[in-house]
Amino acid sequence: MNTSASNINYPHRHLLGIEGLTAQEISALLDASKPHVEQNRRADKTLTTLHGRTLINLFFENSTRTRTSFELAGKRLGADVINMAVSTSSIKKGETLIDTAVTLNAMHPDVLVVRHPDSGAVKLLSEKVNCAVINAGDGRHEHPTQALLDALTIRHRKGRIEGLTVAICGDILHSRVARSNIHLLNAMGAHVRVVAPPTLLPAKIENLGVEVFHHMASGLHDCDIIMMLRLQVERMQGSFVPSTREYFRFYGLDAKKMTAAKPDALIMHPGPMNRGVEIDSELADDITRSAICDQVELGVAVRMACLEVLTDNLAKTL
Ligand code: ASP
Repeated sequence: MNTSASNINYPHRHLLGIEGLTAQEISALLDASKPHVEQNRRADKTLTTLHGRTLINLFFENSTRTRTSFELAGKRLGADVINMAVSTSSIKKGETLIDTAVTLNAMHPDVLVVRHPDSGAVKLLSEKVNCAVINAGDGRHEHPTQALLDALTIRHRKGRIEGLTVAICGDILHSRVARSNIHLLNAMGAHVRVVAPPTLLPAKIENLGVEVFHHMASGLHDCDIIMMLRLQVERMQGSFVPSTREYFRFYGLDAKKMTAAKPDALIMHPGPMNRGVEIDSELADDITRSAICDQVELGVAVRMACLEVLTDNLAKTL
């Protein structure tokens, strides 16, 4: 086992969310990701750390980057990776989530990576299996590996997280990315702001330890990091914004709105991105200001670290 993974302080069987993790545990996962950033840039990228281990990707919602990222992460560590296409699986034939979990568990996977449209579904599933479970996004609840890869990106580009001002902008109401990031950034000592129209903010969001803004000019003022979020139309029942055109005018990130932030402010976006809706296309492609490609790149390293750490913990408890 890779020493960086086996020595790290993450005393949990699963990774279901960031809420409740300590700054030390978060830092430990970020530190364990570092060697993989270099490894992923080499011609020969594959290790044997997880040789003989089985990873099942079980996605009940569409995904391109997260599923591919976990698949690559598993393969680069030498694991056997299976992708379950839910559209062709027994779930379509009426099997319940729990029956699916129990069936897969009987095949002795080591890690199940699960995405589900319902908040809490991944935790429920984790209670029925013997393997480690990673939440790859449950409803509007949490998406812990996204927050970890965002944190690793901030560390890479800014050298630290503590003391930075981070503005999370857009559809906070439906965003699991926002929730996981709020927990992580607060734990790591950043100042967290949310910027959104009142219709796209959950009630009492300030109880999570964030400052609330309804205007981009004040919300972005002097901030170091701008995290843009997609309008999650697939989770909306009814209309939350008058039109995407008007939304872009008031809440879309463009060069003019950026002037409120620090001159070296970094733009982030978890993807998929809607150009011209929440972000101006040119700004998204400006690699001096945008860290969007770094996020995707570092995501594989973060997921490799999570897989190593959880399988190592599993081995210790067997
Ligand atoms: N990919 C992220 C998620 O699964 C963000 C998004 O879909 O907008 O939550």
